[in-house]
Amino acid sequence: MRFGIHTMDAYDVRGKTVLCRVDINQPVDRASGKLKSVNRIRACVPTVRELSDRGAKVVLLAHQGSDIEYQNFYTTAPHAEVLSELLEREVKFIDDVTGPAARAAIRSLKNGEVLLLDNVRFCSEEQTLFETKLCLTHEQQARTQVVEKLAPLADLYVCDAFAAAHRDQPSLCGFEQVLPSMMGRLFEQEFCVISGVMESPERPCVFVLGGAKVADAFLMMETVLSGGTADRVLTGGLVANILLAAKGEQIGSGSLAFIKKSGYDTFIEKSVPLLEQFGGKIVLPLDAAYLDAAGKRAEADVGSIPADAGVLDIGAKTAELYEKEIKNAKTAFVNGPMGVFEKPETELGTKAVWRALGATEAYTVVGGGDSITATEKYGLVEKMGYICTGGGALIRFLTGEELPVVKALRYAARKFPAEK
Ligand code: ADP
Ligand code: MG
Repeated sequence: MRFGIHTMDAYDVRGKTVLCRVDINQPVDRASGKLKSVNRIRACVPTVRELSDRGAKVVLLAHQGSDIEYQNFYTTAPHAEVLSELLEREVKFIDDVTGPAARAAIRSLKNGEVLLLDNVRFCSEEQTLFETKLCLTHEQQARTQVVEKLAPLADLYVCDAFAAAHRDQPSLCGFEQVLPSMMGRLFEQEFCVISGVMESPERPCVFVLGGAKVADAFLMMETVLSGGTADRVLTGGLVANILLAAKGEQIGSGSLAFIKKSGYDTFIEKSVPLLEQFGGKIVLPLDAAYLDAAGKRAEADVGSIPADAGVLDIGAKTAELYEKEIKNAKTAFVNGPMGVFEKPETELGTKAVWRALGATEAYTVVGGGDSITATEKYGLVEKMGYICTGGGALIRFLTGEELPVVKALRYAARKFPAEK
């Protein structure tokens, strides 16, 4: 038991049917139907391999894409192929989740075999819209089709989907009501790393917060500053633009229009008390980059940003300042790029800060989809201390909330004692 949850050491799995919920949600290339990244599939390999090696009949449940924007909402068939290559053993696939075909495929599994079911979000109860409109309790989730059809065929449930731990859906929170449950190895590792950074980081502890998910970034900033976790918060991206505007700095009409369009204009006002309370710890850019009339990169000090500019990156002086802060840190946590790093004109800040993160002696934790993409782009995957697969879950974890899946797993640990 760890964190009040059973680990994979709690039960003997040989000959048992184990339902294992993973998060292998990946961006998909529309034209070819191929996966654009296989990060998360790779990350769950240790858990799946261990279950298979220990003789379990492994049934994998996973979602792909979001029903809200209806993007990347596809079958998990390609994931089975990739997982099979990474595991170097067969991974069966069935294009069904709870129907007779899926149940027959589960019943026919032999010890050590692995089966991936189709996208669980093809079931209405697994959709985000269902989750946010109906708000079922975990007890009610245990009476949904997904749980009622699959749980009777299984002996144990494993959740390895830390990246989805902030979701309140039956495949994540319902099985714990009725089956002895454990967290998978990846879940355990991510939980351990993140709670370690939050509770007792080596100091100085620096948070680098940028990107475009402003609401999440502000929530995180408040938590790590008021809880005393962060000694310094280095800001970039849209987050920095908002803070600069809150200080009354000119950030350009292009920046303001973008903030408004993204629905984040209320954060300008909300930042004022935050800056008053924690101003000494929040580091703002000294200079900024934007595109000139010819579409070329131009930089200006804060205070002389042109009135019509759209700030798309931190400037070179800021990058240098942040590099020094990161070099002197003992713990560095990063979420969100410093600018629009996808374009060559506006990647300087992110590239410099990321290279500093790769080079520092500090323990570095990277979270967030685009932040991970930047890490790969600059060839720094091996240089970071820990790359967290979860974005949303990570942020909610950092705010100190008990995540729905953690709550469900703790419930199961109390209800079903360990075998060993
Ligand atoms: P993560 O996925 O790492 O959590 P976010 O999704 O919050 O990060 O933000 C990443 C996105 O933010 C990138 O697509 C990037 O282009 C965009 N971005 C960064 N800086 C700016 C900026 N100043 N203006 C507009 N978009 C920005
Ligand atoms: Mg993102």
